[in-house]
Amino acid sequence: MQLFSQQQLKVTNSLSGKKEVFTPLKEGYVGMYVCGPTVYSNVHLGNCRTFMSFDMIFRYLKHLGYKVRYVRNITDAGHLENDADDGEDKIAKKAKLEQLEPMEVVQRYTVDFHETLQKLNLLPPSIEPTATGHIIEQIQIIEQILEKGFAYEQNGSVYFDVVKFNVSHDYGKLSGRKLEDMIANTRELTAQQEKKNPQDFALWKKAEPQHIMRWPSPWGDGFPGWHLECTAMSTKYLGEQFDIHGGGMDLKFPHHECEIAQAEASNNLSPVKYWLHANMLTLNGKKMSKSTGNNIYPSEIFSGENDILSKAFAPAVVRFFMMQAHYTSILDLSDTALLASEKGYHKLMEGIKCLSTLAPSDTSDFDVNAWKNKCYEAMNDDFNTPILIAHLFEAVRQINLIKDGKAKITVTNQLELQNSMNAFVFEVLGITAPEGNDTTSETLDGVLHLLIDLRNKARANKDFATSDNIRDKLEAMGIQLKDGKEGTTFSIN
Ligand code: AMP
Ligand code: ZN
Repeated sequence: MQLFSQQQLKVTNSLSGKKEVFTPLKEGYVGMYVCGPTVYSNVHLGNCRTFMSFDMIFRYLKHLGYKVRYVRNITDAGHLENDADDGEDKIAKKAKLEQLEPMEVVQRYTVDFHETLQKLNLLPPSIEPTATGHIIEQIQIIEQILEKGFAYEQNGSVYFDVVKFNVSHDYGKLSGRKLEDMIANTRELTAQQEKKNPQDFALWKKAEPQHIMRWPSPWGDGFPGWHLECTAMSTKYLGEQFDIHGGGMDLKFPHHECEIAQAEASNNLSPVKYWLHANMLTLNGKKMSKSTGNNIYPSEIFSGENDILSKAFAPAVVRFFMMQAHYTSILDLSDTALLASEKGYHKLMEGIKCLSTLAPSDTSDFDVNAWKNKCYEAMNDDFNTPILIAHLFEAVRQINLIKDGKAKITVTNQLELQNSMNAFVFEVLGITAPEGNDTTSETLDGVLHLLIDLRNKARANKDFATSDNIRDKLEAMGIQLKDGKEGTTFSIN
């Protein structure tokens, strides 16, 4: 397979803690699974950062020429309040609180999730499966794990036997934890006396009579444990082994550790070749989080309606702000940081706009090929978007030098630079041009000047019928022509 870039892509694999050369299991194809949102409330900007990080990765892999199947689920069942195995189902709790059907809650926040991500220009995944749509698959996996002896049933619930699993496998290898330490550090005598060990986790929970979201199973009415859905859906759509599994750092333990355990227990195969984890967006130096309330919603940023903001910021500026940080670094949101990103964003957009208007020369002072290689080098080094953006600004500096007549570019180089800038900025980083579409207004400007010109010619020829007709028709469309000493100007209502 001929990839777009000749350099090797390296990714930081959480499993080894190292940067590794990315070699997909099947040449030319990539299977990628990313844990989706739990749809019981509006997504905050922190959630959006993780999804945007993987959107950029999805976009870059596609840009390189890979055929990518990107699966991102919707968690619409089984995620309990405190991430452990007790407490209420988050969705059922919200449904009770708002007197809605659980599926109304799910629908409301799934729509919000989609609308928000669309504003931030995220591409839809190839498949977006739901936990509730895959109960049968989840039950099948539990049966397999039970058969292999790594789970046990207790009063209508089924638990994963972590201690038994750890005898022949390595529970904790992703998060770098040792089961012995976890056991030594456990103070609480587990709330569920049902569990053999506090580290065991639920694969299936018996539904108490008042529990709304419930399904029949070989163990009675109940609902799946949160970790199980991702194993079921990733296996179903990407196979027992696939290339990339992503999510936020906070999901490494227990969620992803449990996913590995479930997959290995059911078929003895390590499910994922590269585990990629995106870092957190913080606010006031603390992780943005639904539960603590330390968060900001995208709609507040787009409208400017939040006390920490001095103004509204466009979704493209927010996206640019996120891309200026490496996806594995912590990023803190503040008004100052957004203002700086807004400036940078406009500078970049101006540069791109100016590029097409440059007058070419016979020689070039700018080695576009070398520049392009540096851009690929940055992206191939674990998707280093901040370094890529530094290179994009270097190109803008060159464009401005050429515009000011201080440097030259050939027409071939100009075209190559234009193609590459467009590819990196719009296709890979997913940044969009300013709203109100500048090209549309530029075209409209051109058309109006042409009409003004025709009207002036008609008037010079004393063809007042035509000149009045142009003026009146434009007026009817809300466009006023004003004749002054300096010529004719227009205003649009
Ligand atoms: P949830 O809906 O809580 O399951 O979260 C959806 C995704 O958002 C997960 O991948 C989380 O890791 C991620 N996430 C949650 N909080 C943050 C944050 N402050 N910054 C970045 N990602 C986050
Ligand atoms: Zn998951």
